[in-house]
Amino acid sequence: MKNLIVANWKMNPTSQKEAEDIFSKIKEGAEDASAEVVVCPPFIYLSLLKGLTLGAQDCFYEDKGAFTGEISTAMLRDLGVEYVIIGHSERRRYLKETDEIVNKKIGEALENGLKVIFCIGETGEERDAEKKKEVLERQIRKGLEGIESLENVNVAYEPIWAIGTGNNCGVEETKESIDFIRGVVKPETRILYGGSVKSENSGDYIKFAGANGLLVGGASLKPDEFIKIVKSAE
Ligand code: PEP
Repeated sequence: MKNLIVANWKMNPTSQKEAEDIFSKIKEGAEDASAEVVVCPPFIYLSLLKGLTLGAQDCFYEDKGAFTGEISTAMLRDLGVEYVIIGHSERRRYLKETDEIVNKKIGEALENGLKVIFCIGETGEERDAEKKKEVLERQIRKGLEGIESLENVNVAYEPIWAIGTGNNCGVEETKESIDFIRGVVKPETRILYGGSVKSENSGDYIKFAGANGLLVGGASLKPDEFIKIVKSAE
């Protein structure tokens, strides 16, 4: 099983030129990588960027129709997109995505042949209240309800308190969470870690915490740093 390193650009950058510049530098640096590298830019740049595996940051749960502003998995497949991030905590928080919506999106994406990066993670309050395992188990069970095969599902464990804060989760704590998640999904399911990953800490998640990859936000917009992260997963 190859390690999977995913760049989540979120709502960045603000021009096509910058998107092309960042992408071409990542492409050059990731050429001989032994890990699988996936770049997830905003939808609007997907058709512009060529030469690396692409992922979308979200999708809708219907193929087509009167759903103004939405993008379907059929459209993504047609563009050659291979992966889709579903259930990112920013969407759960700002767009009020529930476990039920996440479940419908996962079902739709798999049906249309996309590989899913399914995000789960606890808030700081849930962690402090020792509810982490309960939350993770609920998110997994509801998110994957009725999904028959997990072959194309990758789980990204992203403690919410660690995302974009510089306060990455310690290796031991991450290992404990990954071991727990592994017991709820299939032993062969790829489990990624995400949350303030940098090149100084990235290798440890793969070597010591049992992660099969990384979901990288902020650092994925800095090509040199992102390439170091990719290399650290080898
Ligand atoms: C993310 O966007 O999923 C993420 C983990 O962001 P960051 O690496 O910036 O914490």
